[in-house]
Amino acid sequence: MNTKVCKFGGTSMANSDNINAIANIIESDKERRFVIVSAPGKRNSNDRKITDMLYACYHQVELNGECMETFGQIRERYVEIVNDLKLDIDIDKYLDEVYEGIIKYRSSDFAASRGEYLGGIIMAKRLGVEFIDPKDLIKFNANGDFDAETTNELTRQRLKDVTRAVIPGFYGADTSGNIKTFSRGGSDITGAIIARATEASVYENWTDVNGFMICDPRIVKNPAHIAELSYRELRELAYMGANVLHPESIFPVRYNNIPINIRNTFEPEHPGTMIVANRKSTNNNIITGIAGKKGYSIVFIEKSMMNSELGFARRVLSVFEYYGVSFEHMPSGIDTLSIVVSDSEIAGKEDVIIDRLKKTISPDHIELLKGFSLIATVGHDMSFKPGTACRIFNALAKQNINIRMIDQGSSEMNIIVGVNTQDYEKTIESIYNEFIK
Ligand code: ASP
Repeated sequence: MNTKVCKFGGTSMANSDNINAIANIIESDKERRFVIVSAPGKRNSNDRKITDMLYACYHQVELNGECMETFGQIRERYVEIVNDLKLDIDIDKYLDEVYEGIIKYRSSDFAASRGEYLGGIIMAKRLGVEFIDPKDLIKFNANGDFDAETTNELTRQRLKDVTRAVIPGFYGADTSGNIKTFSRGGSDITGAIIARATEASVYENWTDVNGFMICDPRIVKNPAHIAELSYRELRELAYMGANVLHPESIFPVRYNNIPINIRNTFEPEHPGTMIVANRKSTNNNIITGIAGKKGYSIVFIEKSMMNSELGFARRVLSVFEYYGVSFEHMPSGIDTLSIVVSDSEIAGKEDVIIDRLKKTISPDHIELLKGFSLIATVGHDMSFKPGTACRIFNALAKQNINIRMIDQGSSEMNIIVGVNTQDYEKTIESIYNEFIK
């Protein structure tokens, strides 16, 4: 029998109706053996995610030694879910233990992870299947880095004879048994890890949308849907802001080329988006997707003959490294070099970096340009096809959008333009209209 691993996001876990919808999805297919859950998310736009409230609890305990009020709201949410589902669980007992743990361990990872832990207990009871705590499977080393191989071995052994189980997402434990979480949205990574260890035929990632759209629907109304993406296209789009799936989810599944299928809990018949190792079919459109992010600055350097100065770029980058600032892109000309960095990376360090660069490389001119956005146009089908860049530039020229920077990866599957942030939305719209009919 094939194995399907199914991860459900925060909206799918937000209330009892949604949890029942998950149960229907799982029970409709025997191959859906492993269920990974997020913490309950928002029930409406004014609501708070359980995970956010748990982080707040941690901070309150750091400040005041207690977090009764916020934890009371968390308690209410879980009690309501358990009562609505009419489950025979002493949820107050679990909640008391969690509260004690938050006070005792004073660990933000421990606090944050409890949303998934409690959600997992409820889901397992609702399905009448085993609950497996990922602290025994997902391992981090002494430096806090994820230990992929130990995890894979432990998980493979533990799950090989299990028919069906619920496993909370987002966390594991380090070598001393302390709870460690992935970065935010990390239940997606847990799902991918379980898919790898169980050699799943597919990793179904159930969320509240029908998969990826070609671009952000807040910018273009009803953009076309993406039926199929490759891992690499996903990496590019996710890194540049398309946030349906955690970008690191690819790493575990690519060991055995397991496809990821983004599905919608609230429209389960929709096929969603399939993310595969190598995309065979060509899209009707040359491009696969457009994504972008605001909030970039450019350190612009000019120096005559810089290209014949051996080690010039290395010396420039060593300054950024010294101040712990990673860069995004580095387009260059004969006498010019631009270092594109995100504002959050460089904030507060602008002056020292410029000063040190002046001393290190004696530029003819150096300045910090602010207020940039980057927009990536992504697609395998662009590779080795002349004319795509030209179409992008023409489309932007027609709208009077000034392109401040261009970067095309050597794989030719990604063309990035930097524009002034006031042109951000217009840029995405123009590229979309040029390629998607
Ligand atoms: N609950 C965690 C978060 O909100 C992890 C997840 O949902 O994937 O980031």
